[in-house]
Amino acid sequence: MSDAPAIVWLRQDLRLGDNPALRAAIETKRPLVLLYVLDDETPGRWRLGGASRWWLHKSLSALGADVEKRGARLVLRKGAAAKVLPNLVKEIGAGAVFWNRCYEAYAIARDKALKEKLSADGLEVQSFNGALLNEPWVVKTKTGEPYKVFTPYWRAARQVAERRAPLPTPKKLNGYAGDVASERLADWKLSPTMPNWAAGFEDEWKPGEAGALAALRLFIKDRLRDYPEARDTMGVHGTSRLSAHLHFGEISPAQVRAAIESAIHDAPALQRGADKFMTEIGWREFSTNLLFHWPTLPEANWRDNFDAFPWRDDAKALRAWRRGQTGYPIVDAAMRELWISGTMHNRARMIAASFLIKHLLIDWRHGEAWFWDTLLDADLANNAASWQWVAGSGADASPYFRIFNPITQGERYDAEGAYVRKWLPELANLPDDVIHRPWEADAATLRKAGVELDVTYPAPIVDHTAARARALEAFATLSSVG
Ligand SMILES: Cc1cc2nc3c(=O)[nH]c(=O)nc-3n(C[C@H](O)[C@H](O)[C@H](O)COP(=O)(O)OP(=O)(O)OC[C@H]3O[C@@H](n4cnc5c(N)ncnc54)[C@H](O)[C@@H]3O)c2cc1C
Repeated sequence: MSDAPAIVWLRQDLRLGDNPALRAAIETKRPLVLLYVLDDETPGRWRLGGASRWWLHKSLSALGADVEKRGARLVLRKGAAAKVLPNLVKEIGAGAVFWNRCYEAYAIARDKALKEKLSADGLEVQSFNGALLNEPWVVKTKTGEPYKVFTPYWRAARQVAERRAPLPTPKKLNGYAGDVASERLADWKLSPTMPNWAAGFEDEWKPGEAGALAALRLFIKDRLRDYPEARDTMGVHGTSRLSAHLHFGEISPAQVRAAIESAIHDAPALQRGADKFMTEIGWREFSTNLLFHWPTLPEANWRDNFDAFPWRDDAKALRAWRRGQTGYPIVDAAMRELWISGTMHNRARMIAASFLIKHLLIDWRHGEAWFWDTLLDADLANNAASWQWVAGSGADASPYFRIFNPITQGERYDAEGAYVRKWLPELANLPDDVIHRPWEADAATLRKAGVELDVTYPAPIVDHTAARARALEAFATLSSVG
């Protein structure tokens, strides 16, 4: 026990419950300072995107209030964490620093250097697993290699012995009583104002720990049972909508697993939904496993034969895709959902990504960058792994010849057109049989629905059959595909 304060450096773990770094700090009985550093320097091009900044603002605001209620303060500082943290240590004479680990290459390098420096200065420095069920070095093949294929990865991951029960939420925090300056959250200007393009986010999301726990409860109560089927229907909320909460660490996967297991215990009929749902949590773990073992995943093709792929440079088509003006309703609805609500249904993400890569032959990295800026749940591991999965360039990727047909995908997973009607109001009055293919509607039907192709809504910017053939030809130029 010592009077020198302990710093808990919060990063992608913006919660008080099940927080191993916070718990360890509390156990030292030292006075506590909770710190968040807005570090736009270290991540380079992967600094937080616009939508993520909106979420972060709300999340920090909720966390700050929760911390204060318990008798401590959340200190906000801006700058390179490699400087900000040691400066704060000096300022308050801290004796210990605790954090939960991140797995991006820039974060690993930064944290390693900080750990060495602060330890050499005589501080107690400890890091923990607060973000994953299993860290990437825990789940390995029999020969000690990282897994490259999801199914055996997840089979092995489920058998790993370490099963930490979630840690309780502290009722009180022994806050450091000395003077310590904090920047004002409002001064960070994380939320857009002119124009406020995030207005549509307010109705849909409740960032913060309380919002995360409420979303989990709602999911278990109303959606878990039918999750295996409902997760694919784009016009309904059939999934947990937890991804941004998980990314910012407002809830931990250990808490999610514990809640799901307790629900199954009370209602065994939920088992089927729970298995499917936990498999998706498994994809999150697998993606982090890939990012950790292949740190260039966000920038470089995992399969290097894709380095020779004949991508097209087509700024006009890229702009049409981003704005939801491709003339394919399911793609456009997806891209408008993203812009207006900060998220996109998982199936819609696959269809929209496939369209960019395969119908337009535009490099997946352009799509990845757009998603990074516009998704509230933008996550370096999940985003990069998913884009490479769709492109076919990734580990355990979708085969190159799997080209999502935007018409039949729409008709299958948005059969009544609810999703298209919600996000493309200009097509709302089209009948179901042409809502996913307005160019096939006769003139009278279009007129009655108030649709004029290339005036109120674009005609398709590429022909599906021709684009498919062009994509297959381009993929055939790669050595050893498939
Ligand atoms: C091109 C593309 C880009 C994507 N980018 C991201 C991203 O930046 N951040 C992100 O969190 N997810 C990303 N995903 C995965 C997935 O679409 C979202 O996690 C999911 O739609 C979030 O909704 P949910 O929380 O309701 O998911 P649920 O179906 O309720 O799933 C539960 C949780 O499992 C995880 N998960 C689900 N699917 C995947 C997946 N395919 N890969 C990794 N984890 C998954 C998420 O943490 C999610 O919250 C991307 C998918 C594609 C095809």
